Amino acid sequence: MLHPAAAADRLGTESAFEVLARAGELERQGKSIINLGIGQPDFATPDNIVEAAIKALRDGHHGYTPANGIPPLREAVARELEKRAGAPLDPDRVLIVPGGKVTMFFAITLFGEPGAEIIYPNPGFPIYESLIHYSGATPVALPLREENGFGFSADELLALITPKTRLIIINSPANPTGGVTSKTEMDKLAAGLENHPQVAVLSDEIYSRLLYGDAQHASLLAYPGLRERTVLLDGWSKTYAMTGWRLGYSYWPKEMIPRATRLAINSHSCVNASAQWAGIEALQGPQDAVARMCQAFDARRKVVVAGLNALPGVSCIEPKGAFYAFPNISATGRPAKQLELGLLEEAGVATIAGSSFGKEGEGYLRLSYANSLENIELALQRMADFLSR
Ligand code: PLP
Repeated sequence: MLHPAAAADRLGTESAFEVLARAGELERQGKSIINLGIGQPDFATPDNIVEAAIKALRDGHHGYTPANGIPPLREAVARELEKRAGAPLDPDRVLIVPGGKVTMFFAITLFGEPGAEIIYPNPGFPIYESLIHYSGATPVALPLREENGFGFSADELLALITPKTRLIIINSPANPTGGVTSKTEMDKLAAGLENHPQVAVLSDEIYSRLLYGDAQHASLLAYPGLRERTVLLDGWSKTYAMTGWRLGYSYWPKEMIPRATRLAINSHSCVNASAQWAGIEALQGPQDAVARMCQAFDARRKVVVAGLNALPGVSCIEPKGAFYAFPNISATGRPAKQLELGLLEEAGVATIAGSSFGKEGEGYLRLSYANSLENIELALQRMADFLSR
């Protein structure tokens, strides 16, 4: 009998990967499955980025790189983030990581420990809560509400802060809801945090370039008073359709950089060299592929929302960002997990139960509309048939 660390059993999971595995199994059995479960663009990485990676390999970039990332990439990220910050940023505070998730792991384990509290959005990306438990800190849920368009309320967030609060996690545009928090709420949060100088913020901005209609991204880096305590999480996965490349970036408070870099040296040493060169091309090359993907997502978003609102017992507010719809399914009379299972096993549509994103997600379902219009329409038809059975 082995004796693993207690922390190992406190880790949660991301059920999108479990649903992905089950959908694959059903497909291998010959069933037709439309996957609206996993959150990844259905586009290929743009050619200019792929070519940059191939060139880097041909040019001999085969060895270890600096643990924090190659200097020209950190420069390129600093210049990119300056657009959000509206102020000069320091490339030495940029850390290149193998995927956005790694920034989450670093920030939560560098601030979390028994006795500390960490505030996180609920429903929210499930890894936040999982890692807070892993670190030994106490998770404090910030409920996100449908009536607020699933943006957070700064007043509600500030009221959760105690002397034990070490870190606050915010995510806009948000997974799983597509909610976007307004600049007015961000201003209020920034002003309120002035009374809590010991509190750091992890701002997960991985969907910052996926916005629709008149939605605007309000970055936490734009607040000079917060820049010394903000960990900004972003990366290439969603914006450039690069989920499988495992490439992300973060911007850290100066005093945290040596700690975060040491954690990188202790875990992955550095990020795949050719992927880093491709990352430069992504940021500095033409951006028309990003615009095209956004337009395609926007068209699908409208079809998804209209289709969901036509289903019996289902209502869906308009998501303003990311590529998720988060319909309210409480009037179907079925718990979210039961609906997820029924849709997958009986209707051939993979979705994720809202309850997989925290307690406050019960009564909702997450659908990723990063799939073709044709598949989305077919999925909606299958859902309509299933719900009217
Ligand atoms: N943050 C949020 C809110 C996400 O939804 C995801 C991925 O689904 C990530 C971070 C992680 O992205 P990556 O694939 O780059 O690790």
